[in-house]
Amino acid sequence: MRPFVYLRPTSVAEALQAVAGHDGGSFLAGGSNLVDLMKYGVESPSQLVDVTRLPLASIEPRPDGGLRIGALVRNSDLAADSRIARDYPVLAEALLSGASPQLRNMATTGGNLLQRTRCYYFYDTAFPCNKRQPNSGCPAIAGQNRIHAILGQSDACIAVHPSDMAVALAALDAVVRIEGRDGPRSIPVTDFYRLPGKTPQIETQLAAGELITAVDLPASGPARRSHYLKVRDRAQYAFALSSAAVVLETSGGHISAARIALGGVAHKPWRAFEAERLLVGRAPDSASFEAAADSALQGARGFAHNGFKVELTRRTLVRAFQELPAL
Ligand SMILES: Cc1cc2nc3c(=O)[nH]c(=O)nc-3n(C[C@H](O)[C@H](O)[C@H](O)COP(=O)(O)OP(=O)(O)OC[C@H]3O[C@@H](n4cnc5c(N)ncnc54)[C@H](O)[C@@H]3O)c2cc1C
Ligand code: SF4
Repeated sequence: MRPFVYLRPTSVAEALQAVAGHDGGSFLAGGSNLVDLMKYGVESPSQLVDVTRLPLASIEPRPDGGLRIGALVRNSDLAADSRIARDYPVLAEALLSGASPQLRNMATTGGNLLQRTRCYYFYDTAFPCNKRQPNSGCPAIAGQNRIHAILGQSDACIAVHPSDMAVALAALDAVVRIEGRDGPRSIPVTDFYRLPGKTPQIETQLAAGELITAVDLPASGPARRSHYLKVRDRAQYAFALSSAAVVLETSGGHISAARIALGGVAHKPWRAFEAERLLVGRAPDSASFEAAADSALQGARGFAHNGFKVELTRRTLVRAFQELPAL
């Protein structure tokens, strides 16, 4: 048992103060990932700051017609919110495809964004791992890599980000709101995550001691016609081998705007901007969706065990578009 200090602040200012200047300070939300990491010895914070009493558990309308989702809104509450289910179906579907009902009752919006990869070697401290211990090596590259990345990998790390919710948020152009000692700032979800490069241990743009306070959704508009499709080994309680979040707007029989984010394939939710551009002006038919999928997967490459994910993801994306309502 590694000793740690446990604190339970009731305001954002107190929470920031509690981790300030503490190298080993971590925020604890639902605990569904962090507590596992502590049990496995992957993370051992000396100061655990439980944020569940902060007033960040509501979903509020924003002046521009969008919504502000507090960092402590539970995944189950978010999926059940009638505004989310009606105006942002891609988000409700992504949430409901994740984990299990019990886990979704605990998991929070902030914690879900910051959950760590499910790479087997990352959780097993008997192995080296560049993400856990920089410059120690990446056994997944020549080892078991069935669940690993096909896009954006580096020689240092081929892990994927496991969140379903983050993929939907990337397709919705959501923005992460952050508070730190230097004040508030906002980062679009599409810029929030980093590719591994040479420093896979640095996963996001969040600085030490910064707290996620909310996620902003823009006014729904085209998001009403959106969909999340997840392919996994089991129908329930399994992470994505591949997933696609799509948003499509049509006008006069042609596509006027499209957004595509892929999950289970990269170190971050993978926005396929070029494929989105290619769709604009085309008919919303299978030929267009297949052309977009070809573009989105251009440059994808697998390793010994995950090569199948390239074609799987291509098909997942095409089918996600085909399953959109009223096409
Ligand atoms: C068996 C199992 C299956 C799962 N399946 C899926 C799945 O299919 N899809 C999926 O998406 N997820 C899945 N999950 C992951 C689950 O969704 C995450 O564990 C959960 O969302 C994390 O949220 P939490 O509030 O419990 O975070 P915690 O475990 O409390 O925290 C996670 C990380 O976020 C940090 N943190 C938390 N809140 C904040 C904040 N406000 N500001 C800054 N830092 C913060 C913590 O310090 C920690 O580093 C699964 C988990 C398990 C155990
Ligand atoms: S893929 Fe990344 S997380 Fe997995 S062993 Fe390699 S460095 Fe570690």
